[in-house]
Amino acid sequence: MPDLIERSADILARATSAVALTGAGISVESGIPPFRGKGGLWEKMDPMKVAHIDAFLEDPEGVWNLLIKDMKTVLDKARPNSGHTVLADLERLGILKTVITQNVDGLHQMAGNSDVIEFHGNFAWQRCLDCNRSIETSRVDLAQIPPRCRCGGILRPDCVFFGEMIPHEALIRSQKLSAACDVMLVIGTSAMVQPAATMPFIAKDNGAVIIEINPEPTPLTSRISNLPLLGNACSIMPRLAAAIRQRMPLPDNR
Ligand code: NAD
Ligand code: ZN
Repeated sequence: MPDLIERSADILARATSAVALTGAGISVESGIPPFRGKGGLWEKMDPMKVAHIDAFLEDPEGVWNLLIKDMKTVLDKARPNSGHTVLADLERLGILKTVITQNVDGLHQMAGNSDVIEFHGNFAWQRCLDCNRSIETSRVDLAQIPPRCRCGGILRPDCVFFGEMIPHEALIRSQKLSAACDVMLVIGTSAMVQPAATMPFIAKDNGAVIIEINPEPTPLTSRISNLPLLGNACSIMPRLAAAIRQRMPLPDNR
């Protein structure tokens, strides 16, 4: 493993158009449970019952009570961890161009990354099912479930539920950046949710080096990962940053 980290640092120190693809795993150590994997929400509930758009439209009260209310409580408190901050450092160094994330927690922006493509939207906003008005999630009153817009319409998170389309712009830009990157860092994603999971394949087909950080093997690990770094984001990312730092000066003003 130390050798894999050194080799990853060699490659990243020379990279100029790296892209990161992140999933729920990078935010686990910020206190946000993932869906799949150990301790994941899907051990407790059926995704199609709680995170499918049809389930929400059929029973908004039930989905708010089972999933969204708790998400709001957890996400309100969450702060970026060292996995997020190392990605912000890599952007400042001119190594990393863009973060493509499946997360809806806004932690990459909070850590300081300026170009973040949100595949599944952002939980920071709610949208009215009737008049389409947007309201900040932090300002939503949970006294009434489901919470309502001032027009009386039901509020929904501005996230992509199962059964909904990925925002077109996000998809097209991600495909282009994946095809053009020299390195793809795949961090904390089970690589099971499409179409995000195709991005590493696009990158690999176009000659990028795939560096994967995950405590468990994924469908990518044996198929396309050049450098699988087995471990948690907060353990691997600072070690990777330290190894890169030995190869080039890092700004010390953070
Ligand atoms: P996932 O839940 O399918 O998989 C999480 C992955 O993270 C697993 O492979 C697991 O092994 C790995 N992991 C667990 N702990 C880790 C750690 N400390 N460091 C690094 N990796 C770790 O995640 P997914 O593939 O992103 O798909 C689930 C979907 O659910 C996402 O598309 C997202 O929209 C949504 N989601 C978002 C959040 C969030 O915003 N933080 C949280 C849960 C789910
Ligand atoms: Zn409304």
